[in-house]
Amino acid sequence: MPVIVEENRRMTAQDASILLIYTGGTIGMIENAETGALENFDFEQLRLQVPELQRFSFHIGSCSFDPPIDSSDMDPSTWGRLATLIRDNYERYDGFVVLHGTDTMAYTASALSFMLEGLGKPVILTGSQLPIGMLRTDGKENLLTSIEIAAEQEEGRPVVPEVCIFFENHLTRGNRTVKVNAENFNAFRSFNYPPLAEAGIHIKYERQFIRRAPGGAPLRCHTRMDTAVAVLKLFPGIREEAVAAALGIPGLRGLVLETFGAGNAPRHPWLVRRLKDAVAGGMVVVNVTQCGAGAVEMGRYETGRQLIEAGVVCGHDSTTESAITKLMFLLGQDLPPAEVRRLMGVSLAGEITVPQP
Ligand code: ASP
Repeated sequence: MPVIVEENRRMTAQDASILLIYTGGTIGMIENAETGALENFDFEQLRLQVPELQRFSFHIGSCSFDPPIDSSDMDPSTWGRLATLIRDNYERYDGFVVLHGTDTMAYTASALSFMLEGLGKPVILTGSQLPIGMLRTDGKENLLTSIEIAAEQEEGRPVVPEVCIFFENHLTRGNRTVKVNAENFNAFRSFNYPPLAEAGIHIKYERQFIRRAPGGAPLRCHTRMDTAVAVLKLFPGIREEAVAAALGIPGLRGLVLETFGAGNAPRHPWLVRRLKDAVAGGMVVVNVTQCGAGAVEMGRYETGRQLIEAGVVCGHDSTTESAITKLMFLLGQDLPPAEVRRLMGVSLAGEITVPQP
Protein backbone atom coordinates (compact mmCIF):
# COMPACT_ATOMS: atom_id res chain seq x y z
CA MET A 1 0.00 0.00 0.00
CA PRO A 2 1.44 3.46 -0.85
CA VAL A 3 2.48 5.64 2.10
CA ILE A 4 0.25 8.68 2.60
CA VAL A 5 2.01 12.02 3.14
CA GLU A 6 -0.01 14.70 4.90
CA GLU A 7 0.23 17.92 2.93
CA ASN A 8 -1.47 20.58 5.05
CA ARG A 9 -3.58 20.32 8.13
CA ARG A 10 -7.32 20.37 8.44
CA MET A 11 -8.21 23.79 9.90
CA THR A 12 -11.61 22.95 11.33
CA ALA A 13 -13.63 19.76 11.53
CA GLN A 14 -15.86 21.16 8.78
CA ASP A 15 -13.03 21.61 6.30
CA ALA A 16 -12.83 19.09 3.51
CA SER A 17 -9.99 16.66 3.30
CA ILE A 18 -8.74 15.27 0.00
CA LEU A 19 -6.54 12.33 -0.89
CA LEU A 20 -4.38 12.93 -3.95
CA ILE A 21 -3.24 9.70 -5.61
CA TYR A 22 -0.47 9.87 -8.19
CA THR A 23 -0.42 6.84 -10.50
CA GLY A 24 1.83 8.24 -13.27
CA GLY A 25 1.31 9.70 -16.74
CA THR A 26 2.59 12.74 -18.61
CA ILE A 27 1.61 15.10 -15.79
CA GLY A 28 4.52 13.79 -13.71
CA MET A 29 7.01 13.02 -16.46
CA ILE A 30 10.29 14.63 -17.38
CA GLU A 31 12.19 14.67 -20.67
CA ASN A 32 15.21 12.36 -20.89
CA ALA A 33 17.99 14.69 -22.06
CA GLU A 34 19.62 11.95 -24.17
CA THR A 35 16.68 10.27 -25.87
CA GLY A 36 14.10 13.07 -25.72
CA ALA A 37 11.52 10.51 -24.50
CA LEU A 38 9.25 11.34 -21.58
CA GLU A 39 9.93 9.25 -18.47
CA ASN A 40 8.27 9.10 -15.06
CA PHE A 41 9.71 11.07 -12.21
CA ASP A 42 8.73 10.83 -8.61
CA PHE A 43 5.85 12.42 -6.82
CA GLU A 44 8.11 14.51 -4.59
CA GLN A 45 9.30 16.36 -7.72
CA LEU A 46 5.76 16.84 -8.85
CA ARG A 47 4.77 18.35 -5.50
CA LEU A 48 7.69 20.77 -5.68
CA GLN A 49 6.40 21.95 -9.06
CA VAL A 50 3.05 22.86 -7.50
CA PRO A 51 3.70 24.98 -4.40
CA GLU A 52 0.09 26.14 -4.75
CA LEU A 53 -0.94 22.87 -3.06
CA GLN A 54 0.08 24.49 0.24
CA ARG A 55 -2.38 27.30 -0.29
CA PHE A 56 -5.55 25.25 -0.11
CA SER A 57 -7.24 25.90 3.20
CA PHE A 58 -8.17 22.26 3.60
CA HIS A 59 -6.29 19.10 4.32
CA ILE A 60 -4.59 17.23 1.47
CA GLY A 61 -3.04 13.82 1.91
CA SER A 62 -1.06 12.39 -0.96
CA CYS A 63 0.41 9.10 -2.05
CA SER A 64 2.04 7.67 -5.11
CA PHE A 65 2.22 4.41 -7.01
CA ASP A 66 5.77 3.15 -6.72
CA PRO A 67 6.96 3.15 -9.42
CA PRO A 68 4.54 5.49 -11.22
CA ILE A 69 3.17 3.90 -14.38
CA ASP A 70 2.41 5.04 -17.89
CA SER A 71 -1.32 4.50 -18.28
CA SER A 72 -0.73 2.10 -21.18
CA ASP A 73 0.44 -0.30 -18.45
CA MET A 74 -2.76 0.05 -16.42
CA ASP A 75 -4.78 -3.14 -16.17
CA PRO A 76 -7.48 -4.67 -13.96
CA SER A 77 -4.97 -5.39 -11.20
CA THR A 78 -3.91 -1.72 -11.02
CA TRP A 79 -7.59 -0.66 -11.12
CA GLY A 80 -8.04 -3.03 -8.18
CA ARG A 81 -5.15 -1.38 -6.28
CA LEU A 82 -6.70 2.01 -6.90
CA ALA A 83 -10.20 0.93 -5.87
CA THR A 84 -8.83 -0.72 -2.71
CA LEU A 85 -6.82 2.40 -1.83
CA ILE A 86 -9.98 4.50 -2.11
CA ARG A 87 -11.99 2.00 -0.06
CA ASP A 88 -9.35 1.83 2.68
CA ASN A 89 -9.28 5.62 2.98
CA TYR A 90 -12.95 6.22 2.31
CA GLU A 91 -13.87 7.31 5.84
CA ARG A 92 -10.80 9.54 6.30
CA TYR A 93 -11.26 11.68 3.21
CA ASP A 94 -14.13 13.62 1.64
CA GLY A 95 -12.90 13.28 -1.92
CA PHE A 96 -10.21 11.70 -4.08
CA VAL A 97 -8.15 13.10 -6.94
CA VAL A 98 -6.35 10.56 -9.13
CA LEU A 99 -3.47 11.77 -11.30
CA HIS A 100 -3.40 9.42 -14.24
CA GLY A 101 -2.01 9.17 -17.77
CA THR A 102 -4.49 10.32 -20.35
CA ASP A 103 -4.17 7.37 -22.73
CA THR A 104 -6.29 4.92 -20.76
CA MET A 105 -7.90 7.33 -18.30
CA ALA A 106 -11.37 6.68 -19.74
CA TYR A 107 -10.96 2.93 -19.16
CA THR A 108 -9.83 3.41 -15.55
CA ALA A 109 -12.64 5.87 -14.85
CA SER A 110 -15.20 3.47 -16.34
CA ALA A 111 -13.81 0.51 -14.41
CA LEU A 112 -13.78 2.41 -11.10
CA SER A 113 -17.40 3.49 -11.60
CA PHE A 114 -18.41 -0.21 -11.56
CA MET A 115 -15.89 -1.38 -8.97
CA LEU A 116 -16.88 1.26 -6.39
CA GLU A 117 -20.53 0.34 -5.89
CA GLY A 118 -22.54 2.81 -3.81
CA LEU A 119 -19.88 5.54 -4.13
CA GLY A 120 -21.01 8.69 -2.33
CA LYS A 121 -17.84 10.80 -2.64
CA PRO A 122 -16.03 12.44 -5.57
CA VAL A 123 -13.32 10.50 -7.37
CA ILE A 124 -11.85 12.91 -9.93
CA LEU A 125 -9.32 11.65 -12.48
CA THR A 126 -7.10 14.15 -14.19
CA GLY A 127 -3.76 14.42 -15.94
CA SER A 128 -2.20 16.57 -18.61
CA GLN A 129 -0.89 16.66 -22.15
CA LEU A 130 2.31 18.49 -21.12
CA PRO A 131 4.38 17.59 -18.03
CA ILE A 132 3.76 19.78 -15.00
CA GLY A 133 7.34 21.08 -15.03
CA MET A 134 6.93 22.64 -18.47
CA LEU A 135 6.14 26.32 -18.83
CA ARG A 136 2.97 25.84 -20.88
CA THR A 137 1.71 22.87 -18.90
CA ASP A 138 -2.00 22.22 -18.69
CA GLY A 139 -1.33 20.04 -15.63
CA LYS A 140 -1.40 22.71 -12.93
CA GLU A 141 -4.81 24.02 -13.87
CA ASN A 142 -6.22 20.51 -14.19
CA LEU A 143 -4.80 19.44 -10.84
CA LEU A 144 -5.82 22.51 -8.83
CA THR A 145 -9.35 22.64 -10.23
CA SER A 146 -9.83 18.89 -9.70
CA ILE A 147 -8.89 19.32 -6.04
CA GLU A 148 -11.38 22.15 -5.71
CA ILE A 149 -14.14 20.06 -7.29
CA ALA A 150 -13.37 17.05 -5.10
CA ALA A 151 -13.60 19.28 -2.01
CA GLU A 152 -16.80 21.08 -3.01
CA GLN A 153 -19.56 20.48 -0.47
CA GLU A 154 -23.10 21.71 -0.13
CA GLU A 155 -25.00 21.34 3.14
CA GLY A 156 -22.35 18.91 4.31
CA ARG A 157 -22.65 16.71 1.21
CA PRO A 158 -20.23 16.41 -1.71
CA VAL A 159 -21.50 18.16 -4.83
CA VAL A 160 -20.18 15.53 -7.26
CA PRO A 161 -20.31 12.05 -5.68
CA GLU A 162 -19.25 10.28 -8.88
CA VAL A 163 -16.19 8.97 -10.70
CA CYS A 164 -15.41 11.82 -13.12
CA ILE A 165 -12.74 13.09 -15.46
CA PHE A 166 -11.70 16.72 -15.26
CA PHE A 167 -9.77 18.03 -18.22
CA GLU A 168 -9.40 21.46 -19.79
CA ASN A 169 -12.34 23.16 -18.06
CA HIS A 170 -14.83 20.32 -18.29
CA LEU A 171 -15.95 17.83 -15.69
CA THR A 172 -17.53 14.78 -17.31
CA ARG A 173 -18.84 11.47 -16.03
CA GLY A 174 -15.96 9.00 -16.21
CA ASN A 175 -17.87 6.14 -17.81
CA ARG A 176 -19.24 8.47 -20.52
CA THR A 177 -15.91 9.98 -21.51
CA VAL A 178 -13.47 9.13 -24.29
CA LYS A 179 -10.04 10.46 -25.25
CA VAL A 180 -10.49 12.13 -28.64
CA ASN A 181 -7.27 14.02 -29.23
CA ALA A 182 -3.64 12.99 -28.84
CA GLU A 183 -2.38 16.55 -29.05
CA ASN A 184 -4.84 19.23 -27.96
CA PHE A 185 -5.27 20.28 -24.35
CA ASN A 186 -8.96 19.70 -24.96
CA ALA A 187 -8.46 15.95 -25.18
CA PHE A 188 -11.62 14.39 -23.74
CA ARG A 189 -15.26 14.38 -24.71
CA SER A 190 -18.51 13.00 -23.39
CA PHE A 191 -20.63 12.83 -26.53
CA ASN A 192 -23.72 11.18 -25.13
CA TYR A 193 -24.04 12.86 -21.74
CA PRO A 194 -23.72 16.56 -20.84
CA PRO A 195 -20.75 17.86 -18.81
CA LEU A 196 -21.33 17.84 -15.05
CA ALA A 197 -19.52 21.14 -14.57
CA GLU A 198 -17.64 23.81 -16.45
CA ALA A 199 -14.74 25.70 -14.91
CA GLY A 200 -14.35 29.34 -15.84
CA ILE A 201 -14.05 32.20 -13.39
CA HIS A 202 -16.48 30.13 -11.33
CA ILE A 203 -17.02 26.40 -11.39
CA LYS A 204 -20.55 26.03 -12.70
CA TYR A 205 -22.12 22.74 -11.67
CA GLU A 206 -24.94 21.22 -13.72
CA ARG A 207 -26.69 19.70 -10.74
CA GLN A 208 -29.51 18.14 -12.75
CA PHE A 209 -27.02 15.87 -14.51
CA ILE A 210 -25.04 14.79 -11.45
CA ARG A 211 -25.82 11.29 -10.24
CA ARG A 212 -26.36 10.41 -6.59
CA ALA A 213 -26.12 6.73 -5.71
CA PRO A 214 -29.15 5.57 -3.72
CA GLY A 215 -28.46 6.77 -0.15
CA GLY A 216 -27.81 4.54 2.82
CA ALA A 217 -25.91 1.76 1.06
CA PRO A 218 -22.28 1.44 2.20
CA LEU A 219 -19.42 1.53 -0.32
CA ARG A 220 -18.73 -1.91 -1.76
CA CYS A 221 -15.42 -2.40 -3.52
CA HIS A 222 -15.32 -5.13 -6.18
CA THR A 223 -11.90 -6.04 -7.48
CA ARG A 224 -12.61 -9.19 -9.47
CA MET A 225 -12.56 -8.45 -13.18
CA ASP A 226 -12.62 -11.17 -15.82
CA THR A 227 -10.29 -10.41 -18.72
CA ALA A 228 -11.68 -13.20 -20.95
CA VAL A 229 -13.11 -10.47 -23.18
CA ALA A 230 -12.29 -8.83 -26.51
CA VAL A 231 -13.33 -5.98 -28.79
CA LEU A 232 -14.01 -6.65 -32.48
CA LYS A 233 -14.36 -3.68 -34.77
CA LEU A 234 -16.27 -4.46 -37.97
CA PHE A 235 -15.18 -2.96 -41.27
CA PRO A 236 -16.46 -3.31 -44.83
CA GLY A 237 -14.83 -6.41 -46.29
CA ILE A 238 -14.21 -8.17 -42.98
CA ARG A 239 -13.61 -11.85 -43.65
CA GLU A 240 -15.20 -14.83 -42.02
CA GLU A 241 -11.79 -16.07 -40.84
CA ALA A 242 -11.24 -12.82 -38.91
CA VAL A 243 -14.61 -13.09 -37.13
CA ALA A 244 -14.11 -16.81 -36.53
CA ALA A 245 -10.66 -16.18 -35.04
CA ALA A 246 -12.06 -13.57 -32.63
CA LEU A 247 -15.03 -15.68 -31.58
CA GLY A 248 -12.80 -18.73 -31.32
CA ILE A 249 -10.36 -17.23 -28.78
CA PRO A 250 -10.02 -20.02 -26.21
CA GLY A 251 -12.04 -19.28 -23.06
CA LEU A 252 -13.56 -16.05 -24.39
CA ARG A 253 -16.68 -15.12 -22.38
CA GLY A 254 -17.53 -11.63 -23.59
CA LEU A 255 -17.17 -9.67 -26.81
CA VAL A 256 -17.83 -6.00 -27.56
CA LEU A 257 -18.81 -5.76 -31.21
CA GLU A 258 -18.18 -2.30 -32.67
CA THR A 259 -20.75 -1.96 -35.42
CA PHE A 260 -21.69 0.68 -37.99
CA GLY A 261 -24.03 3.61 -37.30
CA ALA A 262 -27.05 2.67 -35.23
CA GLY A 263 -25.73 -0.86 -34.63
CA ASN A 264 -25.56 -2.37 -38.09
CA ALA A 265 -23.43 -5.14 -39.57
CA PRO A 266 -22.91 -6.65 -43.05
CA ARG A 267 -25.61 -9.16 -44.01
CA HIS A 268 -23.44 -12.25 -44.33
CA PRO A 269 -25.27 -15.42 -43.32
CA TRP A 270 -22.00 -16.70 -41.83
CA LEU A 271 -21.80 -13.69 -39.49
CA VAL A 272 -25.22 -14.32 -37.94
CA ARG A 273 -24.57 -18.05 -37.77
CA ARG A 274 -21.20 -17.62 -36.04
CA LEU A 275 -22.58 -15.07 -33.57
CA LYS A 276 -25.57 -17.31 -32.83
CA ASP A 277 -23.31 -20.27 -32.10
CA ALA A 278 -21.09 -18.17 -29.83
CA VAL A 279 -24.11 -16.87 -27.88
CA ALA A 280 -25.57 -20.39 -27.64
CA GLY A 281 -22.20 -21.44 -26.17
CA GLY A 282 -22.63 -18.86 -23.36
CA MET A 283 -20.71 -15.90 -24.80
CA VAL A 284 -22.08 -12.41 -24.11
CA VAL A 285 -21.83 -10.27 -27.27
CA VAL A 286 -22.57 -6.56 -26.85
CA ASN A 287 -23.30 -4.19 -29.72
CA VAL A 288 -21.83 -0.66 -29.49
CA THR A 289 -21.55 1.83 -32.30
CA GLN A 290 -18.28 2.92 -33.90
CA CYS A 291 -19.70 6.47 -34.00
CA GLY A 292 -18.57 8.80 -31.25
CA ALA A 293 -22.09 10.03 -30.57
CA GLY A 294 -25.50 8.39 -30.70
CA ALA A 295 -26.88 5.01 -29.74
CA VAL A 296 -27.42 1.50 -31.03
CA GLU A 297 -30.97 0.75 -32.16
CA MET A 298 -30.83 -2.75 -33.48
CA GLY A 299 -34.44 -2.83 -34.67
CA ARG A 300 -34.06 0.14 -36.98
CA TYR A 301 -32.51 -1.50 -40.06
CA GLU A 302 -32.53 -5.06 -41.31
CA THR A 303 -28.72 -4.99 -40.97
CA GLY A 304 -29.14 -4.43 -37.23
CA ARG A 305 -32.22 -6.61 -36.70
CA GLN A 306 -30.29 -9.73 -37.76
CA LEU A 307 -28.01 -9.19 -34.74
CA ILE A 308 -31.02 -9.37 -32.37
CA GLU A 309 -31.83 -12.73 -33.93
CA ALA A 310 -28.25 -13.81 -33.29
CA GLY A 311 -28.68 -13.02 -29.56
CA VAL A 312 -26.43 -9.95 -29.53
CA VAL A 313 -27.17 -7.55 -26.64
CA CYS A 314 -27.84 -3.85 -27.25
CA GLY A 315 -25.14 -1.60 -25.78
CA HIS A 316 -27.32 1.52 -26.19
CA ASP A 317 -25.16 4.68 -26.11
CA SER A 318 -22.24 3.09 -24.30
CA THR A 319 -18.66 3.99 -25.04
CA THR A 320 -16.44 1.02 -25.91
CA GLU A 321 -14.36 1.80 -22.79
CA SER A 322 -17.42 1.52 -20.60
CA ALA A 323 -18.82 -1.59 -22.34
CA ILE A 324 -15.58 -3.59 -22.09
CA THR A 325 -14.92 -2.70 -18.43
CA LYS A 326 -18.57 -3.38 -17.51
CA LEU A 327 -18.31 -6.78 -19.20
CA MET A 328 -15.11 -7.55 -17.22
CA PHE A 329 -16.85 -6.44 -14.04
CA LEU A 330 -20.06 -8.44 -14.57
CA LEU A 331 -18.23 -11.56 -15.76
CA GLY A 332 -16.00 -11.23 -12.68
CA GLN A 333 -19.08 -11.55 -10.44
CA ASP A 334 -19.71 -15.14 -11.57
CA LEU A 335 -23.19 -14.38 -12.82
CA PRO A 336 -24.87 -16.65 -15.38
CA PRO A 337 -24.58 -15.35 -18.98
CA ALA A 338 -28.31 -14.51 -19.09
CA GLU A 339 -27.92 -12.23 -16.07
CA VAL A 340 -24.81 -10.58 -17.54
CA ARG A 341 -26.81 -9.95 -20.74
CA ARG A 342 -29.68 -8.42 -18.75
CA LEU A 343 -27.39 -6.18 -16.68
CA MET A 344 -25.57 -4.94 -19.80
CA GLY A 345 -28.89 -3.26 -20.61
CA VAL A 346 -29.30 -1.70 -17.16
CA SER A 347 -27.58 1.53 -16.14
CA LEU A 348 -25.47 0.60 -13.10
CA ALA A 349 -23.50 3.83 -12.71
CA GLY A 350 -25.07 6.20 -15.22
CA GLU A 351 -23.07 4.69 -18.09
CA ILE A 352 -25.97 4.26 -20.54
CA THR A 353 -29.30 5.88 -21.31
CA VAL A 354 -31.92 3.19 -21.77
CA PRO A 355 -34.83 4.40 -23.90
CA GLN A 356 -38.24 4.16 -22.23
CA PRO A 357 -40.52 1.62 -23.96
N1 ASP B 1 1.48 7.94 -22.22
C1 ASP B 1 0.92 8.84 -21.25
C2 ASP B 1 0.00 8.02 -20.34
O1 ASP B 1 -1.13 7.80 -20.67
C3 ASP B 1 0.16 9.94 -21.94
C4 ASP B 1 -0.45 10.98 -21.02
O2 ASP B 1 -0.40 10.93 -19.81
O3 ASP B 1 -1.00 11.93 -21.57
O4 ASP B 1 0.43 7.60 -19.30
